[in-house]
Amino acid sequence: MSEQAVIDCLAFAQDARVLEGVAALQDFTRLRDALTNPAGALRYRITGGVGHMRRRFLKLELQADLELQCQRCLQDCTWPLVVKAQIWLARHEDELAAWDREADGLEDAMLADEQFDWMEWIEEEMLLALPTAPIHLDNACPASIIGAVSSKRPNPFAVLAALKQKN
Ligand SMILES: [Zn+2]
Repeated sequence: MSEQAVIDCLAFAQDARVLEGVAALQDFTRLRDALTNPAGALRYRITGGVGHMRRRFLKLELQADLELQCQRCLQDCTWPLVVKAQIWLARHEDELAAWDREADGLEDAMLADEQFDWMEWIEEEMLLALPTAPIHLDNACPASIIGAVSSKRPNPFAVLAALKQKN
């Protein structure tokens, strides 16, 4: 990859820079462990800017089709990962401490780093966005099709509703 792996956060935000491109999923070693197939690519876009009260921020957008194991049928399923995140950059410890994080919507804030490893940030955000129990979407799961045809089990919520009516 020709992009530099670190950025100076504050300068990046101040100059409203944009960093975008495509990265191979297999380059993310921690994410790779969660994938059934590490082939494929990630589209990323990092945008810097200055917001309310002249606070600097970095915005992140990610998009990838991940191959995960469906927790219903245990076969591969494609999971469309979309991440949108934003972090606010404090210039120094005192500023970070002074921010009323919840009141000002600054929950995702950090101390600005001149050597910010954005690839690591990307990986962290992808790991956070991974579904704990991925399943085939849009009724594409073979297990659910079989289940729908053969299952005669009563819906637990219907049972509950019936119980409530009796009382
Ligand atoms: Zn499935």
